[in-house]
Amino acid sequence: MSKVLVIGCGGVAGVAIRKCAQNDEVFSEICIASRTLSKCEAVKAELEGKTKAVITTAKVDADKVDELIALIKEVKPDVVLNLALPYQDLTIMDACLATGVDYVDTANYEAEDTEDPEWREIYEKRCKEKGFTAYFDYSWQWAYQDRFKEAGITALLGTGFDPGVTSVFSAYALKHYFDEIHTIDILDCNGGDHGYPFATNFNPEINLREVSANGSYWENGHWVETKPMEIKREYNFEQVGMKDMYLLHHEEIESLAKNIPGVKRIRFFMTFGQSYLTHMKCLENVGMLRTDPVMFNGQEIVPIQFLRTLLPDPASLGPRTVGKTNIGCIFTGIKDGKERSIKIYNVCDHQECYKEVKSQAISYTTGVPAMIGTMMVVKGLWKKPGVFNVEDFDPDPYMEALNKWGLPWIVDENPVLVD
Ligand code: NDP
Repeated sequence: MSKVLVIGCGGVAGVAIRKCAQNDEVFSEICIASRTLSKCEAVKAELEGKTKAVITTAKVDADKVDELIALIKEVKPDVVLNLALPYQDLTIMDACLATGVDYVDTANYEAEDTEDPEWREIYEKRCKEKGFTAYFDYSWQWAYQDRFKEAGITALLGTGFDPGVTSVFSAYALKHYFDEIHTIDILDCNGGDHGYPFATNFNPEINLREVSANGSYWENGHWVETKPMEIKREYNFEQVGMKDMYLLHHEEIESLAKNIPGVKRIRFFMTFGQSYLTHMKCLENVGMLRTDPVMFNGQEIVPIQFLRTLLPDPASLGPRTVGKTNIGCIFTGIKDGKERSIKIYNVCDHQECYKEVKSQAISYTTGVPAMIGTMMVVKGLWKKPGVFNVEDFDPDPYMEALNKWGLPWIVDENPVLVD
């Protein structure tokens, strides 16, 4: 029996909270705290009477460490599940350190203000040293390792689908199928159709920043950077069909390169339709993806934030999205002296997710693993002092939980490889 404090009440949190409420043998109390209290109240009202878990709500600005510390002291949770935005990772980790409470998240730290000179200096040094230019990386959170260890608390980083399940798939493949893994291709396919000419499946600012940035992959001990959308492949996804996919930079490449010994190459591909790409290019060309303020009618506005107000709210896509996602990893390597390749993947149906938790599959495939990772920590199965990625732990109980909680996986021992 444990108490979880969930911070954030958007698309992913909506699923994770509903899954914690289903899992009330483990989560006896759930406190939902976010910037907009009414969203927390609405989820509480819907769940009350349907779960044995006691649900409470609170308003918090997670950019403010003092507010977070006061909230944690009042709620006294066993664990804090951070499902706000990557901008809040460090303030929430600071508050967990100050109060001695375990920390869980689904995305690594990203700076909100990329023009801040102090941040830019560190960023530019990292770009030169490491060779990739993404605005997010693990160095900020890995830097908490000694402090979490000394405080005797656990930080579990990146327990969504990718990163998260894809990283657990990698640990599972290494444990059960390979002596050495040589290559990992992570393939993220969304075959869903929401019927709009253009919309993003999760937070538009985070999504568009990720997709319009340079791509990169890990090869022979270093990063290789590409122009945005420079590398394209076609792949025939089980239960979805043939799709175009493009190589992107993605955060789990960084942790897998560190944690999978001897891996020679790691790539990440995501599928996009032509209509999405044409709209995005046009928005970029006219300056609508800019993250710096511009003057409009005597007022400062940030174009990408203004764009967000025009686009459909990702949470509203649930009822109208049909089709399936197929996300997984292809591994090649050696077992008992022989070459082998396998693919481990999950297929998730948008409408089935909507029926169960009122959300499309993108939030579902992130919210379910967020609940599972939190459960691993509170049950003590994945608990040791320090800062860890999911592949640092035994994958078996997590893989079992995926089957039980709505994300069953399949192992294909004869997959089609990506050239
Ligand atoms: P949403 O934008 O739908 O939700 C974000 C929530 O955080 C909102 O409730 C928002 O409040 C709240 N929030 C934002 N800033 C603050 C703040 N300063 N204080 C308190 N609350 C705040 O995002 P998603 O649910 O789509 O994404 C949540 C997280 O999941 C993100 O970090 C995202 O990167 C990650 N993610 C991870 C994936 C994976 O596979 N690993 C895949 C998809 C997402 P308000 O309601 O007031 O706006």
